[in-house]
Amino acid sequence: MKKITMTTPLVEMDGDEMAAILWKETKEKLILPFVDLNVDYYDLSMWNRDRTEDQVTIDSAMATKKYGVAVKCATITPNLERVQEYNLKKMWKSPNGTIRALLDGTVFRAPILIKGIEPYIKSWKEPITLARHAYGDLYRGTEMRIEAPGTCELVFTAEDGTETRELIHRFSGPGVAQGVHNLDKSIRSFARCCMSYALDVKQDLVFSAKDTISKVYDRTFREIFKEVFMNEFMEAFEHAGITYTYCLIDDAVSRAVKNPGGYVWACQNYDGDVMSDMLATAYGSAAMMTSVLVSPDGCYEYEAAHGTVRRHYYSYLEGGVASTNPLAIIMAWANALSKRGELDKNQPLMDFGRNLQDATIQTVESGIMTKDLKKVTTIPDPHVVTGLRFIEIVQKRLEEICQQTAIPAVPEDN
Ligand code: NAP
Ligand code: MG
Repeated sequence: MKKITMTTPLVEMDGDEMAAILWKETKEKLILPFVDLNVDYYDLSMWNRDRTEDQVTIDSAMATKKYGVAVKCATITPNLERVQEYNLKKMWKSPNGTIRALLDGTVFRAPILIKGIEPYIKSWKEPITLARHAYGDLYRGTEMRIEAPGTCELVFTAEDGTETRELIHRFSGPGVAQGVHNLDKSIRSFARCCMSYALDVKQDLVFSAKDTISKVYDRTFREIFKEVFMNEFMEAFEHAGITYTYCLIDDAVSRAVKNPGGYVWACQNYDGDVMSDMLATAYGSAAMMTSVLVSPDGCYEYEAAHGTVRRHYYSYLEGGVASTNPLAIIMAWANALSKRGELDKNQPLMDFGRNLQDATIQTVESGIMTKDLKKVTTIPDPHVVTGLRFIEIVQKRLEEICQQTAIPAVPEDN
C-alpha cells in the first residue's frame, strides 16, 4: 500500500510512563506503516523537561501556534514525590497548564461511545462534550478565616485612588470569607472557543451558570456569551442548523441526565471540574475520554484525558501484565491526523483518521478489549488482552479497512 503523504507537520509531544509506552506502539504499529509521517517532535518526558529547564514545553506550544495542530501524550506533573523520584532540579509546572496559558485555550472533553460499552445513564445515545473555562473563579481565589466579630468588605481601589466598597458580611462571630475574580477578556475568549467548537462539530451549545443568585458575576458571563453570539456567531449557527442556549446550571444538570446527549456543554471553571468527572464516570471508564484544547485563533491540541497510568507502569516494569487501555491515545492520533488533513485539504489523511477510529471501535465491538472495559461491557464472553496486544489486533483490522477503502491508482496515460 502506498503511504499517505502530509504537507504540513503535525506537532508531536511525547510523554511519560505507561502512556508513553502505548504512545510509541501506537505510532509504530498504527501510523508509520500507513502514513509518511511529517512531525515536529518534542520530547516532553519528565527527564527532558528537567534537562531543558522546561523550555521544551514552551517550544512545543509555540510550534502548535505555528502549525495549528498537535497531539500530546500524558505527562507527569511533578509533586514532591516526583521531584525525588526523578531527581528534578525543581518542581516544574504542569505542562498542560503551561501549554494552555500560551495558547489561551479551552479544553473540550468527550467520551468515546462504543456499542456494548454501556453508559450508566441509559438515555445517552450520543456523547456530551464538556467545555470547562480554565481561568479564574475559585482557582484564583483569596480566602480569609475570620476569628472575631467585625465587618468584611470587598474594596476596589482605582488607579486614581477612588474606592468602591461592597459589604460582604458583618460578622458577629467566627467564620470564613472568599474573594474571586474573572476577566471579560478571558470570558469572551472562552465563549468564542465554545462557539467555534460547536460549529466545528455541528452540535448545539449550552452554557450554564447561576445568574439568578449571582446577579453581577454570573450575569456578566451570561451577557458576554450573548454578545459574542449575537455579534459573531448567530448567522453561522443558523446556517449550520445548530442553536445556542443559556441555561441555569440546575436545569443543565437535569438536562444532561435526561437527554440523549449530542451537544456541547460549556461550564464555568468549578462546574466544569466537577461535571467532567461526573460525565467520565457515568460513561463507564476514565480511559474512554478524549480531550482537545482549542485556542480562540483556531489551534488544536489533542490528547487522552487520563494521566500516565503510573500504577500500571510500575507493574509493567516488574514484568507484570499491563492491560492498559490505549483507546483514548489512539483516538488522539486519529483526531489530530484528521484535523491536519482537514486544514490541509488532504482527503486521504482525513480518511485515514476515520479508518483508524473505525478499526479501533470495531475491535472493541468484536469483543476484544482491555481489562477496564470488561467491567462495564454487555458483550458476552469478552476477550481481555494487554494494551500492546490490543494495538496489534487493531493494526490487522486497519490494514483490511485501508485496503477495502483504497482508491485504485489511476493508470497513467501511455
Ligand atoms: P491516571 O494516569 O489517570 O490513572 C489513574 C487510574 O485510572 C489508573 O491507576 C487506572 O486505574 C485508571 N486508568 C487511567 N487511565 C487508564 C487506562 N488508559 N487504562 C486503564 N486504566 C486507566 O492518574 P494517576 O496515576 O493518578 O497519575 C499519574 C500521572 O499522570 C501523574 O503524575 C499526573 O501528574 C499525570 N497526569 C497527567 C495528565 C495529562 O498529561 N493530561 C492528566 C492526569 C494526570 P486502576 O489502577 O484501578 O487500574
Ligand atoms: Mg475534577
